[in-house]
Amino acid sequence: MDNIRVTVWGEYRHEKKNPKVAEVYPQGMHNAIAEGLKAHGFSSVRTATLDEPEHGLTEEVLNNTDVLTWWGHTAHDDVQDAIVERVRQRVWDGMGLIVLHSGHFSKIFKALMGTSCDLKWREADERERIWVVEPGHPIAKGLPEAFELDQEEMYGERFDIPAPDTLVLLSWFQGGEVFRSGCCYTRGKGRIFYFRPGHETYPTYFNPLVRQVIANGVNWVYQPASPKVVFGNAKPREVLPQAK
Ligand code: ZN
Repeated sequence: MDNIRVTVWGEYRHEKKNPKVAEVYPQGMHNAIAEGLKAHGFSSVRTATLDEPEHGLTEEVLNNTDVLTWWGHTAHDDVQDAIVERVRQRVWDGMGLIVLHSGHFSKIFKALMGTSCDLKWREADERERIWVVEPGHPIAKGLPEAFELDQEEMYGERFDIPAPDTLVLLSWFQGGEVFRSGCCYTRGKGRIFYFRPGHETYPTYFNPLVRQVIANGVNWVYQPASPKVVFGNAKPREVLPQAK
């Protein structure tokens, strides 16, 4: 895992404005997520936040990132389109992307999915039960059949996403809704994992099983550099009869 270079991107606005969130995440959610990855043995983990120049996602940073994780909520529109395009190109070129919780509405996730990515939601401190529906998948490694988060925001179907290539996790909420919580995609050469939990007022990113899922997700979306893909006009591999 030492060879996987991870950048944890956080919007980092709620923590600065809402004392309730600052109390749960005094160092910011991005640092809690980074800390979880380090505890899982990832040694090359850096963070980047919205208010840094270029949102902390310069060409140099992205070119040295194998896996990017994304948490945003209140300021999706403040993310510059040029940076979104830069991230999308890196995903197409093979960088792994993990989109967390309210990142479902980020410009980058919507750009990669091509749908509204809208959903139902409710903040009512309710229990979430996450079911592993694809236990043989690498993202399910070390997880029990199901696990609970005592309090979370509800996200409910329909979640307007393209059908995932693989659905690994499915959530049930106390209020009765269900939600596709762990969705795997490939776009271009890059792998994408969407993982639902992580509302800013709950300590979800300190939960050991949530941290396990994110660590598994990093291992799954990571791909070693593959041969460069060639596009455009191409010479025939054999002499064509019409050329003789
Ligand atoms: Zn939320």
